[in-house]
Amino acid sequence: MDFNLSPEADEIRLRAEGFFSQEILPRHREWIQTVCHERKPAPFIEELQGKAKEQGLWNLALPQLADDEPGTRLTNLEFAPIAEILGRLPWGSMIFNCHAPEVPNMAMLQALATPEQKEKWLRPLLNSETRSSFAMTEPDVASSDATNIATTIHEEGDELVLNGRKWFATGGAHPDCSFLIVMGISDPDGGRTGQHSMVIVPMGTPGLTLVRELRFMGWEDFVAPIGEFELKNVRVPKSNLLGEKGQGFKGAQVRLGPARIHHAMRCIGMAEMVLAQMVARAHERRTFGRPIVEYDTVQKWIAEARIDIDLNRLFIHKAAWLLDTSPDRNTWRIVSQVKVSVPRMLQKVTDRAVQLFGAMGGTDDTLIHHAHSYARWFRIGDGPDEVHLRQIFKTEPVPEWKIADCPYVAPGGF
Ligand SMILES: Cc1cc2nc3c(=O)[nH]c(=O)nc-3n(C[C@H](O)[C@H](O)[C@H](O)COP(=O)(O)OP(=O)(O)OC[C@H]3O[C@@H](n4cnc5c(N)ncnc54)[C@H](O)[C@@H]3O)c2cc1C
Repeated sequence: MDFNLSPEADEIRLRAEGFFSQEILPRHREWIQTVCHERKPAPFIEELQGKAKEQGLWNLALPQLADDEPGTRLTNLEFAPIAEILGRLPWGSMIFNCHAPEVPNMAMLQALATPEQKEKWLRPLLNSETRSSFAMTEPDVASSDATNIATTIHEEGDELVLNGRKWFATGGAHPDCSFLIVMGISDPDGGRTGQHSMVIVPMGTPGLTLVRELRFMGWEDFVAPIGEFELKNVRVPKSNLLGEKGQGFKGAQVRLGPARIHHAMRCIGMAEMVLAQMVARAHERRTFGRPIVEYDTVQKWIAEARIDIDLNRLFIHKAAWLLDTSPDRNTWRIVSQVKVSVPRMLQKVTDRAVQLFGAMGGTDDTLIHHAHSYARWFRIGDGPDEVHLRQIFKTEPVPEWKIADCPYVAPGGF
């Protein structure tokens, strides 16, 4: 395993770090004021995106770009340290067009869309001229078992007719969202994994209603607001079918690798940002005659956070390297392991940070609140912990020997 960056990738990483500290971070307070408090679009986003694009810091998360598509073609491993930098702020990734759900949706369109669909739906996303959302989860069925998805897709003449309810469609409530990728049942007799298809549904199609915007544990996703939708006799042309009919699950796998591993990379950035604040705060605050950094408990929290972050970073790098070099069944296993391990790490670090900060830790003033919510939703979104643990368990090989014949067991003991 070689985790070294090529000189070209390292040069891009250094420029990304410079851009982040000079152009993005200094505007964070203004972003909070405008977007979160005044609930208006931040006026500088397009300007920053234009600058980033000009400097070649664009579409850094898409290794498989076609010749005429803008971007750097970094591998997953090369993107990891940049995702970490951008992940320190909720809105960092969007400046380089590397945010969710756009990146996984673009990856899926790259792999499955027809040339006409690519021109109409992918190209504007690659240029950040529009937004998108992936709508699989439904309020009425347990969606962690995706075969439960019940929205129906019927063919009528040249059209597909969709009926159902969707929720937690990240980005679906953004005013610039121009289409949903909807998963539904098209082939009820197709067996457990051959029943579902994906369909591109443009916003504004009659019968498609944004019911409400959702929060998760009081946390609002200001970058990609989360939508609940009703689909009542929604009609789209058959040409809006994405990928093969009945192959929706297979197709959706394309987005899951990047979706999970990129969220994990951002979590490392958040954990680093939170840890730095913990250390600073522990040095500044005094109780019972000494700085709280002098207490064993606090030192242990800081040291353990350092170990947990570094371990999880290595784990992500291994998964990214495998995704780049030999994506097979074992790669999916390690992506699942990362998906379980990283948000647990971030949840632990942020929980201790809240404690260390005292009351301030639970306010919206620090990004600890954001990072904690991010960790909590990531333990459910893109597959809950338990579902991944089940997959990991299933791939654990059972030894050929019985315990009595185990070469490590010797009668009489040691
Ligand atoms: C902030 C946020 C953003 C999201 N974004 C999107 C999005 O963009 N698009 C989208 O389609 N969905 C999205 N989701 C939805 C997410 O993917 C689902 O919530 C998730 O798949 C779980 O489905 P469910 O909520 O229906 O839970 P359920 O399926 O009802 O599961 C509930 C619980 O049952 C338990 N469970 C399930 N299976 C097992 C098992 N095998 N063994 C043991 N326990 C088990 C788990 O603890 C699980 O959490 C998002 C969710 C959140 C919170």
